Amino acid sequence: MTEIYRRRTLGFFPTPISELTRLGKVLGGPSILIKRDDLSGLALGGNKVRKLEFLLGDALLHGCDTIISGGAEQSNHCRQTAAACAVCDLECHLVLGGSEPDPDGAELRFKGNLLLDRIFGARIHWSGEFRKGETIPQLAQSLRASGRNPYVIPYGGSNPIGALGFVEATRELNEQIPLLEKKPSHIVFASSSGGTHAGLVVGKHRFGGDYSIIGVEIDKGESGSKSFRAHVEQLVNQTSELVGTSISDISAEVILNNGYTGGGYGVVGELERQAIHLLATTEGILLDPVYTGRAFGGLIDMIKCGVFKRTDTVLFWHTGGTPALFA
Ligand SMILES: *Cc1c(COP(=O)(O)O)cnc(C)c1O
Repeated sequence: MTEIYRRRTLGFFPTPISELTRLGKVLGGPSILIKRDDLSGLALGGNKVRKLEFLLGDALLHGCDTIISGGAEQSNHCRQTAAACAVCDLECHLVLGGSEPDPDGAELRFKGNLLLDRIFGARIHWSGEFRKGETIPQLAQSLRASGRNPYVIPYGGSNPIGALGFVEATRELNEQIPLLEKKPSHIVFASSSGGTHAGLVVGKHRFGGDYSIIGVEIDKGESGSKSFRAHVEQLVNQTSELVGTSISDISAEVILNNGYTGGGYGVVGELERQAIHLLATTEGILLDPVYTGRAFGGLIDMIKCGVFKRTDTVLFWHTGGTPALFA
């Protein structure tokens, strides 16, 4: 697949894996490992760097000069896209949900990821109630009309080409496992636009793996004509086709826990606050308020509910997002 799809190196891999021994003692359940994609290197890190290596590789292969993507005002994906474009000499247009902050307003909203988008030189377009890039096609059309050659990266970078980043991440993980004292029996992570999830499922199929893959659903899916599960399954199907493997029972492979969506996307509750505080005070590691705080909160709850055996080893895949702590 790396022969067909060009990968533009952007991050520092492999990301480290370590054991959370103090937290493990506090919780008294399974051993807990953490894989640090928050240290993936580009622009304060995060999981989107893996997808962007393949997406921008593809954009450059097709001779594009402009990238368009979109997301929420505090999108981690957009921040990493803006930085990746800077590295690749591509013009970056971001379509963000919400309205332009009032420069004279009392509340300064240019902070966290939005501040970083500006520092990386991205051009920002505000799209009101739409926070999943719904208005990208119109922007692409007007940029084409003005002579640009844009490449569209969907919300979260989650299409089959982006998911290749996590197929490759599985290969990376599988090379690290023999060197670990404890081998993961489960992988737990935040699942939101589905590319991470699809890539991990397809990667396990392609390269093997003795662990189950559990996504913690982040978004209540309020826009949902199609369920999030159906979306992930479709992405698994398309991604497996792309890498030339076939998965017979996709729905059995996609494990999703939707018990922690709380007040909806981006609404920080007690679950997230306590998880952020606990990991910070036991291990000195930061989680983000939207994704990893929620997923780690879910993991802590699953441990307390006895979902795992004491002999299990759970690997939490830290997908980044910490700049949103400053928003
Ligand atoms: C985007 C993101 C996720 C979710 O990954 P998807 O591939 O979109 O499901 C998880 N954590 C963080 C910090 C993210 O920015």
